[in-house]
Amino acid sequence: VCPVGALTERDHTNRLLLDLENPDKVVIVQTAPAVRAALGEEFGLPAGTLVTGKMVYALRELGFDYVFDTDFAADLTIMEEGAEILNRLTRYMNGDKSVRLPILTSCCPAWVNFFEHHFPDMLDIPSTARSPQQMFGSIAKTFWAEKMGIPREKLVVVSIMPCLAKKYECDRNEFKTDGSPDVDYSISTRELARLIRRANVGFTLLTDKEFDQPMGASTGAGVIFGTTGGVMEAALRSVYEIYTGRTLENVNFEQVRGLAGVRRATIDLDGFELKVGIAHGLGNARHLLEDIRHGRNEYHVIEIMACPGGCIGGGGQPLHHGNSEVLYARANALYREDAQKPLRKSHENPYIKTLYEEYLGRPLSETAERLLHTHYFNKAN
Ligand code: SF4
Repeated sequence: VCPVGALTERDHTNRLLLDLENPDKVVIVQTAPAVRAALGEEFGLPAGTLVTGKMVYALRELGFDYVFDTDFAADLTIMEEGAEILNRLTRYMNGDKSVRLPILTSCCPAWVNFFEHHFPDMLDIPSTARSPQQMFGSIAKTFWAEKMGIPREKLVVVSIMPCLAKKYECDRNEFKTDGSPDVDYSISTRELARLIRRANVGFTLLTDKEFDQPMGASTGAGVIFGTTGGVMEAALRSVYEIYTGRTLENVNFEQVRGLAGVRRATIDLDGFELKVGIAHGLGNARHLLEDIRHGRNEYHVIEIMACPGGCIGGGGQPLHHGNSEVLYARANALYREDAQKPLRKSHENPYIKTLYEEYLGRPLSETAERLLHTHYFNKAN
């Protein structure tokens, strides 16, 4: 069960139906990577059946004006988080004593909430990169809306997430402009299944449809964000190439995959041994953070996800009751989609390149910091 919001799950499906019927609104949707690996289970398909194309078709049938992919924003997250990792590492290697390591990933809102409450003395070590959900909303309501000539008040951004904590992330004040949220609201995988059934869409009979562009384009790195270790593997693919200047021949970092609660790996970056850690489940995260707090840190970068298995095991997914076979099947589905992608490194996504050329400038630019980064709060009291 999701560690945040599980007992007070908000249901936005009625609000969504009203927005979809409103001719004055342009309603767009983004779908998180883990959703496509589990939604089919709600319609009797075996765990691990990839239903990406059917999901896109069903969302068009429901009436969304544009169907986009959160994986696009996952690629963007890697650009920003990867730049932060390289920046901190370079300063560290140059002897800058003020650098705090390890850097922690920040795309799981339940995890962010957890460290704000329990580790307020360490708020400067997580990456400041917003989650893919929020990066998507930010870019959709600025760059994309400006290009399309859609006023902010007419645009409704909805997300389909495996997660209940994402509903609360949309509501954080840091992710609003003049009180208006970048992502208006989030619908869980199970809620989407209910909507599809309510609309009498024969899900299993649907053919495959493609995402709309440009925010439907992603690399394989964006896809694997949905499983534990995926954010780390995606980051390593880009950090390796940008740091060494060489092409990574084998992009599969098998050593960070799997379902063990805490995993470690050492990656050779031209003689520098980059030590990375992966934890899923907040109990495992707490142990790692207590070690860091007491000076027993062995890592440069750590990925933490609150749910077992990462987002594939999120609280908004079809119930899996801790069944690790189901989690393995969903993870393998994402690795299959990654392997089928023509591009598998975030920095090679052509639309991400265009976004930087036309709008953001470069990772960690002033515009990127304003739209794609955040800050954290001491919530201990
Ligand atoms: Fe949500 Fe994924 Fe974090 Fe679970 S691991 S709380 S599904 S973001």
